[in-house]
Amino acid sequence: MSLADELYRETILDHYHNPRNQGILEGEKILSVEGVNPLCGDELVLYLEVKDGIVDGITIKSRGCSINTASGSMMTEAVKGQPLERVNDMISVFKDMMLNKSEDTPELPEEFEDLEALQGVKKYPVRIKCALLPWNTLIEGLRCAQTGDVAKAVVSTEHE
Ligand code: ZN
Repeated sequence: MSLADELYRETILDHYHNPRNQGILEGEKILSVEGVNPLCGDELVLYLEVKDGIVDGITIKSRGCSINTASGSMMTEAVKGQPLERVNDMISVFKDMMLNKSEDTPELPEEFEDLEALQGVKKYPVRIKCALLPWNTLIEGLRCAQTGDVAKAVVSTEHE
């Protein structure tokens, strides 16, 4: 294992053992979206509050593997307090980073300091879905926030 891999592993384990913004958000304007990844057994509920075009509140209640929990934890840290436009950019940068097959590291925004660690997961295609689940759930949450459709939605990796 290279030094970079070692550092990546430590970052992931840190977020897995001490996930940030973990728990339930309560309030009138809070949306919740469920995400499931049947391939691994990851389950999470994302709580989201969008106010004045900003992701004002975001938490995750997760029961997933280390990659899934760490990715969700890093994601909440990166997007919390950010304007929607920036959040959408981060979502596409992250998906590109995880799904592009090239070895080139895309140019990453500074919020990606920890998220970069998840690049190591690309070596294990089956785990990429674990890393993407919180992000795909966030996309659905943002869609609900935009359309005002607050019905409980479920995101599943099964149909991707
Ligand atoms: Zn998983």
